[in-house]
Amino acid sequence: MSAFVIPAPSQSVVPVLGRAELFPVRRILCVGRNYAAHRREMGGDDREPPFFFAKPADAVRTDGADIAYPSATSNLHHEIELVVALGAGGADIDTSAALDCVFGYAAGVDLTRRDLQSAAKDKGQPWEASKSFDASAPMGPIRPWAGAGAAPQGRIALSVNGATRQDASLSDMIWSVPEIIAQASRLWTLAPGDLIFTGTPEGVGPLVRGDRVQGEIEGVGEVAFKIV
Ligand code: MN
Repeated sequence: MSAFVIPAPSQSVVPVLGRAELFPVRRILCVGRNYAAHRREMGGDDREPPFFFAKPADAVRTDGADIAYPSATSNLHHEIELVVALGAGGADIDTSAALDCVFGYAAGVDLTRRDLQSAAKDKGQPWEASKSFDASAPMGPIRPWAGAGAAPQGRIALSVNGATRQDASLSDMIWSVPEIIAQASRLWTLAPGDLIFTGTPEGVGPLVRGDRVQGEIEGVGEVAFKIV
């Protein structure tokens, strides 16, 4: 009789700026179509509210690690996003109390197999294969943020090989950070370790092997990696 040897689960962690500690990732929620101009470039209806999807916690990559071009796609897209890291959670959180749950913020990229996403939309199928694949959530370190302080409102931008592709303002978000936390907490009980990718502005586009991706969020930080 043989026995399986099951290794201990590996915990995804994210560096915290200025501290020796690491942020342990529990869950990754993502907001879709949270900027009007991006919703239009995706062919969305202007009256349709944003919505949520998820990535597995082990999709996180940090420290600028190279990212292998994923399998089963020929149209990998970049989506620069503000990432909210929660230090507290709960259910049915009021918008007025939502920022008290914030541990910090980071710059992240929601990598997307756009061709598989388009096919899923056409067939009314789920998005997992287009959004929830290995290494689909590269991000920079988390900048701790006083929970009660206003969420960042500055520039959000992404360049590929030095050429700007996305350049917008966090103030263009349809759902603000506190609204996102409150909305998410109506659907899931949030907890410390949860990350929320808050949606991308317009200008998404394809990546190929060899591309150097650099994202920046004013007052928050950067994310950088190479596709190999
Ligand atoms: Mn996205």
